[in-house]
Amino acid sequence: MSISSRLNQLKTELPEQVRLVAVSKFHEATVIREAYDAGQRLFGESRVQELLPKYEQLPQDIEWHFIGHLQLNKVKQIAPFIDTVQSVDSVKLLEELNRQAGKFNRKIKVLLQVHIAREEHKFGFSFDEMADLLPSGIQEQLTHVTITGLMGMATFTDDKEQIREEFASLSAFFSKVKKQYFAGNTHFNELSMGMSDDYPIAIEEGSTMIRVGTKIFGPRNY
Ligand SMILES: *Cc1c(COP(=O)(O)O)cnc(C)c1O
Repeated sequence: MSISSRLNQLKTELPEQVRLVAVSKFHEATVIREAYDAGQRLFGESRVQELLPKYEQLPQDIEWHFIGHLQLNKVKQIAPFIDTVQSVDSVKLLEELNRQAGKFNRKIKVLLQVHIAREEHKFGFSFDEMADLLPSGIQEQLTHVTITGLMGMATFTDDKEQIREEFASLSAFFSKVKKQYFAGNTHFNELSMGMSDDYPIAIEEGSTMIRVGTKIFGPRNY
């Protein structure tokens, strides 16, 4: 099946309120172009050194989301153009994004990454860390970043019930945080969860944005 038919097939499965991030990491610009020509405008990348040449080569109306672990010293390279950083996992990173976005007089949207998986190595704030951060009024202090929601990744497992529990816990946390700390804020709306293997469960549990790579582009060659 071609990229455009896989993309179209996937889109027919998505409820109206769910946006699709086509995760194009490890795929060439020519391959991304196929998805672009099929109408896709929202793409996700996880490495700065890979994203920069793609940004240069591909059309300017692509909305780029950064979804990988972002080092502080690389923020300035993507600050001029990145639409959203979905993987904000520290206050330092939030502050650096604010500083660099300020230099270009723009606003960068961010999702706070929450650690929901049982695996230790995954990045993100714990629920407790988020509960410390949010009451600090950080959103009011940062004028060049807009916190638009939360992002999470489930444990890499075949246990569907465990995956569902993890998504459900993030979804409940999202609702609570939205009510408690973002009441009256029209920007805090996104719950990014779900990948190729688990997006149907994520959607059932309230995802507004899924990040799908393999199911659109096929396997990655690492
Ligand atoms: C690679 C990646 C994805 C996409 O994974 P697939 O299984 O290929 O759909 C989604 N989210 C993040 C954060 C990723 O790093």
